[in-house]
Amino acid sequence: MFDLAVIGSGPGGYIAAIKAAQNGKKVALIEKGHLGGTCLNVGCIPTKTLLANAAVMQKIQHAAEYGITTGPVTFDFGKMKDRKDGVVTKIRKSLEGLLQSNAITILRGHAEFMSPQELKVKGQESCLVYAEKIIIATGSEPLDIPAFPCDHKFVFNSTSILELTALPKTLAIIGGGYIGCEFASLYAQLGVKVVILEALPALVALQGKAVSEALTAAFKKQGIEVRTGVFVEGVGAGAVQLKGEPPLACDAVLVAVGRKTVSEGLGLEKAGVVVSDKGVVGVNTKMETNVPGIYAIGDVTGKMMLAHVASHQGLIAAANAIGQEAYMHYSAVPAVIFTLPEIATVGLTLEQAQEAGYQAAVGKFPFAALGKSIATLETDGFAQVVLDKKSGAILGAQVVGAEASALIAEMALAIANELTVECLTDTIHAHPTVAEAWLEAALIGNDTPLNFPPKISPRR
Ligand code: FAD
Ligand code: AMP
Repeated sequence: MFDLAVIGSGPGGYIAAIKAAQNGKKVALIEKGHLGGTCLNVGCIPTKTLLANAAVMQKIQHAAEYGITTGPVTFDFGKMKDRKDGVVTKIRKSLEGLLQSNAITILRGHAEFMSPQELKVKGQESCLVYAEKIIIATGSEPLDIPAFPCDHKFVFNSTSILELTALPKTLAIIGGGYIGCEFASLYAQLGVKVVILEALPALVALQGKAVSEALTAAFKKQGIEVRTGVFVEGVGAGAVQLKGEPPLACDAVLVAVGRKTVSEGLGLEKAGVVVSDKGVVGVNTKMETNVPGIYAIGDVTGKMMLAHVASHQGLIAAANAIGQEAYMHYSAVPAVIFTLPEIATVGLTLEQAQEAGYQAAVGKFPFAALGKSIATLETDGFAQVVLDKKSGAILGAQVVGAEASALIAEMALAIANELTVECLTDTIHAHPTVAEAWLEAALIGNDTPLNFPPKISPRR
């Protein structure tokens, strides 16, 4: 009998398992595929490994601006794919070692509930597992839409496109969410003619107007064709069919229209766990399902499909499962889109803050006005703080540009700890660094800019 069984070893499941094991609990972690889940094997890590190649290509293209002369630049996409596979394998091995060092029992097979405390595992290991508490961390997979049948030769999803060893000449990407946009950046930098087809009026619409407009402008500058407000009806015969428009011929299609939760075939009905008609396992703020003692975390809960959200939910679920008390909140979740340029956001956008009734304002500072950015020739983009004029509270932050993924951490800390704009302006920021953009944005938001012209001249 285990104290805790966790189904799925993605960033949600393995973190939950470690937390419980470190509190002296006997833990089983059941995985039917590779350790590390979507994130490590076909998500965050492989995409960021490939995007690192694209970033090097972009730097080389701009080498002359730094006074560096390069010859003709060639690359081997097959080698890039091999490096990606190597990175994933290396981290997977480390993860296995980490789990073993925490004395977690890894069971390789498909888990299915037999009752609220009993799982049948079938696969490399086949056995019955009894556990006092169970965490469902089964994640998500690409949404398969009948109109876009993935044959993995002409029509790919985000998993199968990672297996390509040669580049298509032209790529149509259906869906301008973060996954579609990251692949667009990757392929465009490697010389593929990319067209993004998005039904909504804007790319990455959830991130707010300022971010969406900045990304669209940067993409257009890089030669990526952005077609918003177009609805894709079908795919086949070397082309994409668009509603009310002529078909678009291309060499390959990436379907990036969303993901579906993995909750079928889990025997949830035998445990009495309620699942929505969309396959989402409902949870309360303790990450507990409707069945006491059974928790769910990560993508399968249909909240924010991000690795670090899954991990944090894992900590909360594990804490509650081992008799501690913890609650999940989503007010300060950073989200990064690893496009070129990078985008990172946390908290509310200006539009959301206004809708929520705040006396909201933004302080927006362009990297073009920052010494470090000018020195490194990385002046595209901006950092923006959304604040409440009444209380000075920092409500949200958005950043587009170089190092955005690292920059957002400061704002996540500020929002999670309910800091005010004064806290930000009172904090000494090292010079010259891109992080100074937050200080300057906060000063602008307070109408007291230092390294930026004031709106109204003080003597007038
Ligand atoms: P998963 O990582 O999906 O893991 C679930 C695991 O459960 C899988 O290994 C699966 O095999 C296993 N499983 C399922 N059913 C069973 C069963 N019955 N028995 C045994 N095992 C089972 N997020 C970010 O934060 N940053 C990024 O940069 C980022 N990039 C991404 C890029 C792409 C292309 C994709 C597709 C996703 C990306 N994500 C990113 C999202 C991130 O990968 C997911 O949010 C995260 O992996 C969810 O973690 P999870 O633990 O809920 O589930
Ligand atoms: P996300 O859910 O963030 O992965 O983004 C998926 C994107 O795909 C959303 O912005 C959708 O509007 C878009 N989308 C979904 N279906 C279609 C379609 N048939 N044609 C064009 N875009 C679509």
